[in-house]
Amino acid sequence: MRLIIFGPPGVGKGTQAKLLSEERSIPHISTGDMLRSAAAGGTSLGKKAKAIMDAGQLVPDDVMIGIVREVLASPRAAAGFVLDGFPRTSDQARALAGIFRDLGITSYWVLNLEVDDEEIIRRLGARLVCRKEGRIFNSETDGLTLTSQCPECGGELIQRDDDKPDTVRKRLQVYHAQTEPVIGFYRAAGVVVDVDGTNSIDVVRREIRVLLNDLQAR
Ligand code: AMP
Repeated sequence: MRLIIFGPPGVGKGTQAKLLSEERSIPHISTGDMLRSAAAGGTSLGKKAKAIMDAGQLVPDDVMIGIVREVLASPRAAAGFVLDGFPRTSDQARALAGIFRDLGITSYWVLNLEVDDEEIIRRLGARLVCRKEGRIFNSETDGLTLTSQCPECGGELIQRDDDKPDTVRKRLQVYHAQTEPVIGFYRAAGVVVDVDGTNSIDVVRREIRVLLNDLQAR
C-alpha cells in the first residue's frame, strides 16, 4: 500500500503515519524526521535545514525532491510506504508524479487529515516528543510535562523548536499559502480520502482503517 498523508502541521500526520506503518508493515517516510535527524547529526544540510525549520519556512524544493527520490527508489520503499510531510508545494507534487512514473507506481492514496487552525495552535503548544524514538505525546491529554519521562521508553521529552507559538503561526501561513492548494492536484486525480482529524487519535485511526479496508476491497 502506498500512502501520502496530507494536512496542516499538528493535525496528527506523524502519529497516524507511525500507526499505519506498524499496522501495515510499511516504512514511515517522514521528510520532517529526516531533516531533524540531519540537524541532530550536524551535517551541513542539517544545519541549513534547522535554521529554515526554526523560522517556520520550507526547505528548498530541489533539496527535498532529491531526498524523496532517493528514499522512494530504495529497496525499503519497494513494497509500499506512508509518505508524511511531502509534497508541500505544487512543484514537489509535480516532481512526485514524475518519481512515481519513473518507478512504475500507478496506485496510491492521499489521506487528507483536516482540522482547524485554532485546534492546531492548541495541539502544537501541548505537543511533547520523545527525543530518543520520536513518539509524540500531548501534555494535556497524556498528563505529561517537559520533566516527565517518555511513557514508552523512559527517554527525555522535549518540545520541538518549531512548535513555539510564533513559528507555529508562520508554519500555518506557509501551509495555507503553499501546501493546502496541492490537494487540488490530487482531487483532480481522484485519489483523495478525507479524514476528520479533530477526533481522538484512536477514533481517527479506526476511521482510517475502515476507509483503507474499503478501498482495498473495491
Ligand atoms: P514536519 O515534521 O513534517 O512538520 O516538518 C518540519 C519542518 O521541516 C517543516 O516546517 C519544514 O521546514 C521542513 N520540511 C519538512 N518536509 C518538507 C518539505 N516537503 N518541503 C519543505 N520543507 C519541509
